[in-house]
Amino acid sequence: MRKKIVAGNWKMNMTPSEAVKLVNELKCKSYSKDVEVVFCVPAIDIVPVAEALKGTSIKVGAENMYYEEKGAFTGEISPDMLTDAGVSYVILGHSERRQYFGEDDDCVNRKVRKAIEHNIIPIICCGETIQQREEGITLDFIKSQIVGAFQQVSPKNAAECVIAYEPIWAIGTGRVATSQQAQDVCEAIRLNIRELYGEEVASSIRILYGGSVNACNAAELFAQEDIDGGLVGGASLKPDFADIVNYK
Ligand code: PEP
Repeated sequence: MRKKIVAGNWKMNMTPSEAVKLVNELKCKSYSKDVEVVFCVPAIDIVPVAEALKGTSIKVGAENMYYEEKGAFTGEISPDMLTDAGVSYVILGHSERRQYFGEDDDCVNRKVRKAIEHNIIPIICCGETIQQREEGITLDFIKSQIVGAFQQVSPKNAAECVIAYEPIWAIGTGRVATSQQAQDVCEAIRLNIRELYGEEVASSIRILYGGSVNACNAAELFAQEDIDGGLVGGASLKPDFADIVNYK
């Protein structure tokens, strides 16, 4: 049985003091014990957020990470920096990183392998543009992203990873995929993982849906057979984030 996970992606929206204020508000809510909750926050917010979350079961995630250990990489954040600050998850390959910062599948793969090496669970994002959907190439495109991200990742490590299916046309647009559209792609992703690693890994890896998830649509989306929770942007900054976690 796969444990559900709901991860917030705060993006570039909170200064450290605003982040602490928000965490103090959100941590007072009660959250279902059946769901793992992660706040993925901007790098500069990680330390104060981790401090504010002490004593709760909410985990801290990062929104990005570099694939080198150390050195002359001005502005980058290494895996050791993240783990030392208390991070246990990292979002990798988000479409915004791919689109605005030129991250390709090879870069995502290097980051995935480095995160695994440091026991940080990667939340590996994939998803098609609206043009790709209209051209009917969604599943082929996503398969190429999955195959790219998992190069040289062992079955044991793959099983621990989290995949987030995020159609680009649904991110931050208020235009959510129908539960059937989301299920169809998440099922196809699980089949991709089965082809790569076999049934055991495919049935244990967690696959999330992301794209305009909110307290009203979460229940239907998360009830789908191959959807194990959500990656939530805008709605993770609001008090009713708890209603998404407590979707049942
Ligand atoms: C995201 O940031 O990954 C995301 C899915 O955003 P939103 O929930 O706002 O669409």
